[in-house]
Amino acid sequence: MISHIGSGHYFTHPVTRIVVVGFGFGGFSFCKKMRRRSWRKGMQDVDILVISDRRYITFTPLLPELAVSRLSVESASADIESLGKVLGFRFMLGRVDGIDMRARKVSVKGREIGYDIMVLSTGSSDNLHGISISGENVISLRNVEDASVVAEKLLRSKTIWENPDKSHYQITVIGGGQTGVEAASFLAERLMEIGRTTSKDSPGIILLEASGRILSREPDEVSEISQRILRSKGVEYRTNINVKNIDGSRILLGSGEILHSGTIIWAAGIRPNTWMFGTQGILQTEGGRIVVNARLEIPGIKNAYVIGDIASPIVGDGKILAENASVAVQEGKFLARHIANSILQGKHNEVEVFRYRNFGHVIPLGQDSLFIGPKNRVLAGPLGRGIAWFIHFIELFTNQNRVRFLLESILHRAKTVRSGKDRSPGRASACHGCQESSQTMERQTL
Ligand SMILES: Cc1cc2nc3c(=O)[nH]c(=O)nc-3n(C[C@H](O)[C@H](O)[C@H](O)COP(=O)(O)OP(=O)(O)OC[C@H]3O[C@@H](n4cnc5c(N)ncnc54)[C@H](O)[C@@H]3O)c2cc1C
Repeated sequence: MISHIGSGHYFTHPVTRIVVVGFGFGGFSFCKKMRRRSWRKGMQDVDILVISDRRYITFTPLLPELAVSRLSVESASADIESLGKVLGFRFMLGRVDGIDMRARKVSVKGREIGYDIMVLSTGSSDNLHGISISGENVISLRNVEDASVVAEKLLRSKTIWENPDKSHYQITVIGGGQTGVEAASFLAERLMEIGRTTSKDSPGIILLEASGRILSREPDEVSEISQRILRSKGVEYRTNINVKNIDGSRILLGSGEILHSGTIIWAAGIRPNTWMFGTQGILQTEGGRIVVNARLEIPGIKNAYVIGDIASPIVGDGKILAENASVAVQEGKFLARHIANSILQGKHNEVEVFRYRNFGHVIPLGQDSLFIGPKNRVLAGPLGRGIAWFIHFIELFTNQNRVRFLLESILHRAKTVRSGKDRSPGRASACHGCQESSQTMERQTL
């Protein structure tokens, strides 16, 4: 076990100092697992300091539901300091702006903090792909603040009927990956709920995707089902579209066409937050993720670990793992086990390496959520929706989150059933009832 007299303000007694930089899915699962491990003998001298530039941790898969006012902030986020009291870590609010891996120090606004073990889990930010964006119409959906901006904008935005020009859209979603498709699907349901319904004839939402199909990382079947779902909600989507620039409400496409949109959701890719390394020579993938070995350690640098979106572990089959919550959570758990066993308790187990297990994943699309099983088996319909709900329920950060999520989901379901807007996803492609209700709503609004 490392025994070290900690220097500086943050560590005052002999401990193994673990600094966790960034507290999202990776940081949370690491700390939670460490807490479980710390009940065992030999772990009492561990001092974990979490440094995050946000006070709250956000359950991102529920952000689209926050953006459409279906859930409250309390159901999808948790205060990090309070979590620290339960999970046994200290919290410092601040942005790490420098890392010196040789001297084992991180810095926050000129203040240096030494460590014995560093766990870096700073996640990712929007990738603007060099596109020039001006004006305040563009919003990304990365945290609870963004979700509230979208929710408010939806209520204030002009309907398509107030802007009868065919090139005007209430909402344009740029990026047909998981975040974009989820956002478009939820937003379409919301427009229906608040009486600004979309229909195939007068689309209020358009989704623009640069590649040849939406959800291009998913199997073809998932893309096809999702396209059907979007169509049934009146969402227009276009593929092979390059956005050149955005100026206020004008979106210039590669073809020279100009679209106008009151609200523009940017969901066109991410880039890893690794800038704080400066010019230190670390091996990075083409996309900028940090290459780590199968123990999630930066090669050649002892006790510097990287997890979550910014990590690209060299795993057995040579596959590059996607940036998602499930990978981040499994990496966090693995790392806690590895550090507890090998480093803190001295049980050096040379064969322990990280392996990602695919337990399936969820694509929440509102009433039409999908569950993609481990062998790419797609479950839609009430079963898909039920599994998606249950996975979110158990994965939430705190019991308070779960209680709120449960109550708010029941409330929303009751409202939907009472207003007769419930639809079975299996009927999404030919939902005559929906179209009827959509047209009725349209007449009412006009
Ligand atoms: C809208 C949306 C929907 C999503 N839906 C899904 C889904 O359904 N399923 C799924 O699996 N994944 C989903 N994801 C992806 C998932 O959120 C990420 O893959 C996951 O959060 C990555 O975890 P992480 O720990 O690497 O980083 P994050 O969870 O992003 O956490 C990183 C944290 O570090 C902080 N930070 C960054 N830089 C610094 C710094 N210099 N100093 C201190 N703190 C810093 C950040 O503010 C952030 O709080 C979604 C993402 C979004 C945006």
